[in-house]
Amino acid sequence: MTAVATSPSTSSAANASTGFSLRDFFKSFMLVELLKGMALTGRYTFRRKITVQFPEEKTPLSPRFRGLHALRRYDNGEERCIACKLCEAVCPAVAITIESEVREDGSRRTSRYDIDLTKCIFCGFCEESCPVDSIVETQILEYHGEKRGDLYFTKDMLLAVGDRYAKEITAAKTADAKYR
Ligand code: SF4
Ligand code: SF4
Repeated sequence: MTAVATSPSTSSAANASTGFSLRDFFKSFMLVELLKGMALTGRYTFRRKITVQFPEEKTPLSPRFRGLHALRRYDNGEERCIACKLCEAVCPAVAITIESEVREDGSRRTSRYDIDLTKCIFCGFCEESCPVDSIVETQILEYHGEKRGDLYFTKDMLLAVGDRYAKEITAAKTADAKYR
C-alpha cells in the first residue's frame, strides 16, 4: 500500500474549492468582522449628526431640480406658451396633450394644455425644448394625489402654479442661467 502525501498547494487548492481557509476560521472565531463593525459605529457616535429631520429641515435644492410643472406668463400677464407643441412632441412619456387655437389678433395659443403627472418621468425634456421658457419644472416636491385624476394637471392648474411661484421660478432660472 502506498501513502499519498498531500502537498500544501494541494491543500490550499482544496480549501479554495470549498471556500474555507484557516484564516477565515480564526477571523470568524475571534469575531473580527463584528469588532470592525463596532469600531466603525464607534467612530461616528460622537461626530456631528447629518440626519435631516424632514419636513422641518430640508436639504438645499439645485436650481435645476425637476419638480412640479408650471406654465409661466410674461410680466404683462400674457401666457408665454405659443402652442408650438415641441414639448408635446419631445415628451418620452407621452404625458402632455395640447390643443391650439388662433386668437382674434392672429396669435396662436393653447386651448388645452394637460400634463398627466402619473405618466411623467420628470426628465425635463419639455422644459429644455420650450423656446419661450413657458413650461418649467419648479422646485416644488411636496404634493400628492389622493384619488385617480388628482395628478392630471390642466392648463389652468399649471398656470396657477406658475402665477403662485413666479418669483421662485424666476430666481431659479436666473441662478441657472450662467451655466447655460
Ligand atoms: S418632464 Fe419629461 S416626461 Fe414629464 S412631461 Fe416633461 S418631457 Fe414629459
Ligand atoms: S410650453 Fe413651450 S414648447 Fe410647449 S407648446 Fe408651449 S411654447 Fe411650445
